[in-house]
Amino acid sequence: MDRINNFNRRDWLKLLTAGAAAACATHSAQAQAAQPVKTAARIVIAGAGAAGLAAASRLAQQLSGAQITLVDARKEHYYQPGFTLVGAGIKPADYVVSQTGSYVPSGVQWVQERVTEIDPEGNKVVTQSGQVLPYDFLIVATGLQLEYGRIEGMEPGLIGQHGIGSIYNGPDAAAATWGLMSQFATQGGRGVFTRPGTEMKCAGAPLKYTFLSEDRATRQGGRSKAEFVYFSNNAALFSVPIVSERRCACYSKSATSKPSTTGC
Ligand SMILES: Cc1cc2nc3c(=O)[nH]c(=O)nc-3n(C[C@H](O)[C@H](O)[C@H](O)COP(=O)(O)OP(=O)(O)OC[C@H]3O[C@@H](n4cnc5c(N)ncnc54)[C@H](O)[C@@H]3O)c2cc1C
Repeated sequence: MDRINNFNRRDWLKLLTAGAAAACATHSAQAQAAQPVKTAARIVIAGAGAAGLAAASRLAQQLSGAQITLVDARKEHYYQPGFTLVGAGIKPADYVVSQTGSYVPSGVQWVQERVTEIDPEGNKVVTQSGQVLPYDFLIVATGLQLEYGRIEGMEPGLIGQHGIGSIYNGPDAAAATWGLMSQFATQGGRGVFTRPGTEMKCAGAPLKYTFLSEDRATRQGGRSKAEFVYFSNNAALFSVPIVSERRCACYSKSATSKPSTTGC
């Protein structure tokens, strides 16, 4: 405990959340002026996606003397909200790809391997090559695992073929989806859009993609030949009740069939 200077888990969590609060505060300069906390804590972050990199940046900024290690084999960083734009032909696939290395803060070590084992009792993680990384604090930020196989008949290799698209599987899948959507937007047909009933990344993305596709079909001349069917996972369009109530009221007030996207 000496080594980490009585810097306990509670203090550490406070640092991460204080950073988020400071970002929202009007007087953020005050937060920025705060002195870094001195500690020799060893912090391992498994996963260098948006969450892992954000945590590493925050901790590197607010701690002095800590040994911070990011562990992730993937060298490309994906800007995932942009997948919807790639799938709608608004941006090319490379728009959403950048290099993880360019976001790793100075002083933070990046081990370019997968974590294969976490040993919470021994306070260590093991990487695919067998490298052992001891820690005082561990952040697990390995993201969500996509399970296409749980949809009967579906597998990622089908994306871009047989009229099947998906914007979730990465930049290439989103680009392949645009290949199909582009034809649909011109030729028309029956477009079935779905939102799964599971936890997922960005619950708004399926609806957003439906609206973007409708807009594309309108612009490319296929709208009158196209039918749009949206399958939600429940009766509400949005899962947050207050948002759902506002949006539904908005739709029912609308004189046209096209809902407003700018708020009531
Ligand atoms: C289509 C789409 C639209 C979205 N739109 C929005 C939006 O509008 N607004 C919004 O806020 N969010 C949006 N999101 C969600 C947002 O992109 C994610 O919430 C965010 O990227 C999650 O970050 P993460 O770091 O938790 O996971 P990820 O960014 O997925 O990163 C996880 C990292 O962990 C690594 N990893 C996995 N397993 C291991 C292991 N065993 N060892 C080491 N590393 C490992 C992976 O290689 C990866 O680099 C959207 C997502 C998608 C797909």
